[in-house]
Amino acid sequence: MHELSIATNLISLALEAIQNKSPALHTSAPRVDQVTLRVGRLAGVDAEALQFCYEIATRDTPLAGSQLVIEEVPAVVYCPACQAERELPSVQRFVCPECGQPTAELRRGRELELTCIQLVEPDTVSPPAG
Ligand SMILES: [Zn+2]
Repeated sequence: MHELSIATNLISLALEAIQNKSPALHTSAPRVDQVTLRVGRLAGVDAEALQFCYEIATRDTPLAGSQLVIEEVPAVVYCPACQAERELPSVQRFVCPECGQPTAELRRGRELELTCIQLVEPDTVSPPAG
């Protein structure tokens, strides 16, 4: 399954990031709270399937129980006639929505990138009142 390999990739990237971020004074590895992924409309990723695979693939990892946030990136082309970037209303047709000029110059929409890994900070746990 395509989404499963993406999820697996995502996890190894996150684990790498944890290791890089983890300060020496912390003896235990930090847990991951939330992972944010930017997914372009043309990336060919089924967000729902990815969520499902992520949940399965994160089991028995420091990412277990973390939330996967998927930010959808619209497909944006550059229209040479308008000399502007235009958001495609439909990814089936690569034409400028303003002037109808066909354009293949995709500026955004193929993203598949990890943008944020939010770790559980032990320090943010508020001390018991009293
Ligand atoms: Zn145009």
